[in-house]
Amino acid sequence: MSDDWWQAYREYLASPEWKARVAAVQERAGGRCEQPGCRRKGRHAHHKHYRNFGNEPLEDLIWLCLPCHQAEHPDKKISGKSPFQKLVARHRRRKYKRP
Ligand SMILES: [Zn+2]
Ligand SMILES: [Zn+2]
Repeated sequence: MSDDWWQAYREYLASPEWKARVAAVQERAGGRCEQPGCRRKGRHAHHKHYRNFGNEPLEDLIWLCLPCHQAEHPDKKISGKSPFQKLVARHRRRKYKRP
């Protein structure tokens, strides 16, 4: 992933379009974690993948509680208080290390 991509990503996460998607995912979930069998209160919209980045259908996103989101990122500490930017940095370090 290029720096340009990440710049665009950061800008996208601050955009009304992204916030509307997050709100829609939260509403679909009824505020509850969407991991099967989990009924905790959800906290984060997690990308299942980034193939449709910038124009994600809601199916690409899942509303997760903190423990379930943590399980998706086993090597990183997910904090409920950290800004989304830090979460992005964690995604970046884990999945998109540049060569
Ligand atoms: Zn995530
Ligand atoms: Zn959960």
